Amino acid sequence: MNQSSTIAAVSTPVAAGGLGVIRISGADAISIAAAVFRPVSEKNVTTMKGYTAAFGKVYDGDTPIDEAVLLIFRAPHSYTGEDVAELSCHGGVYLVDRALRAVIKAGAQPAAPGEFTKRAFLNGKLDLTEAEAVMNLISAQGEQGAAAALTALEGALSRKLREAAQVLIADAAYMAAWVDYPDDEIEELSQERLLADYRGVAETLENLLNNYEGGRALTQGVDTVIAGKPNVGKSTLMNCLSGFDRSIVTAAAGTTRDVVEDTVRLGKMVLRLADTAGIRRADNEAEQIGVEFALNRIDRAELVLAVFDGSQPLSEEDRGVIARCRGKRAIALVNKCDLPQRLERDALDGFFAVIPISAKNADGIQALSEAVLAVLGSDSVDTSAAMLANERQRAGCELALSCVKEAVDALQSGMTLDAVNVSTDAAVDALLTLTGERAGDAVIHEIFSKFCVGK
Ligand code: GDP
Repeated sequence: MNQSSTIAAVSTPVAAGGLGVIRISGADAISIAAAVFRPVSEKNVTTMKGYTAAFGKVYDGDTPIDEAVLLIFRAPHSYTGEDVAELSCHGGVYLVDRALRAVIKAGAQPAAPGEFTKRAFLNGKLDLTEAEAVMNLISAQGEQGAAAALTALEGALSRKLREAAQVLIADAAYMAAWVDYPDDEIEELSQERLLADYRGVAETLENLLNNYEGGRALTQGVDTVIAGKPNVGKSTLMNCLSGFDRSIVTAAAGTTRDVVEDTVRLGKMVLRLADTAGIRRADNEAEQIGVEFALNRIDRAELVLAVFDGSQPLSEEDRGVIARCRGKRAIALVNKCDLPQRLERDALDGFFAVIPISAKNADGIQALSEAVLAVLGSDSVDTSAAMLANERQRAGCELALSCVKEAVDALQSGMTLDAVNVSTDAAVDALLTLTGERAGDAVIHEIFSKFCVGK
């Protein structure tokens, strides 16, 4: 679809609601709105100014469909940078769909996923990292995710990447001039000055990369498994964290056979929790499947909360859990700390942290929350500062960093400035692909196709 066509889509969820909004964007947006909408005041829609509204009815031909409010935005002062008309109808699924069909009949093309935001990008309203932030803002599950997305939408990451690119571009231009016009009295940049510039850029990129995992955990949530043999208090912990009875808690060993899942907030973190079937040596086949499943979940989880019964000495099954947690991000929770303690703590030395809790009395949850932030590296992440939001950004940043390091190596090993410049250009390319200034069509298509229709 070419960018000069006028597009339309329903921008609100397809469900019954207070309002259903149809967004129309493009050169013919306002004349198409005029074809389907008649203001009560009988004013002429095509001469309405930007940022004005009219109340009236939406028509399909001569048949009135719904009452609506029409909002007009004139280019370039709109989300997409084009003329935009928005019809706010009553939010019934049928009504909104029928109004959209009337708009399409009047000449609009159905919008592709993310096409409004793509047009905003192509018209210079947003860069690529800001467009990605729009998507993250929509899908944010909690305060941290929303705060980080808003920071990115305000351009914090773009500014950082552009500043880094500017430093490299200035040095590259200087080196190129010095190589091309050695006779002109261009003073050669001192090696120290160049190295200082490159190291500064490398440090910026390294900081972004180092905070990536911790930032992702904070903004996107973490796949977490509560593991442990039967009866140590996994279900009780799950219920304590999620605030209501989801898992069946009984005193008989082996009652939680299936996986119960829940998304909970623990302090600043969002945990996608799975309480697995108790890990124990199974006697029957069904239980065996549950146990296997539980062990596999430990392997796949990003975070393991391994629960032990502090009132009992460690058993063979506990030792199995400990072995399985080796090399994982795992925290040992010594539960039932309200009872006399008999567990050998030394055996838990390999865990990131060992925390006494009482799931039954909700004791020790604050300490657990702090340990979770620390094990995920999220304790030092500042959501009001620039951070990388997705795998594309991480990979691009890593590529830029490796090119900068190559340039540093070339400088230090006395290679020609031309050689240094090849790596420098590659680094600039990687940085400007991230912001979108040098991104190819395939990258742009890939990013916007993940959006929802109507955004
Ligand atoms: P699961 O099999 O690991 O899910 O264990 P449950 O959550 O079903 O708990 C097993 C038993 O331990 C139940 O009787 C719980 O009430 C008890 N329990 C769980 N947490 C605590 C605790 O912190 N202190 C005490 N005293 N008992 C607990």
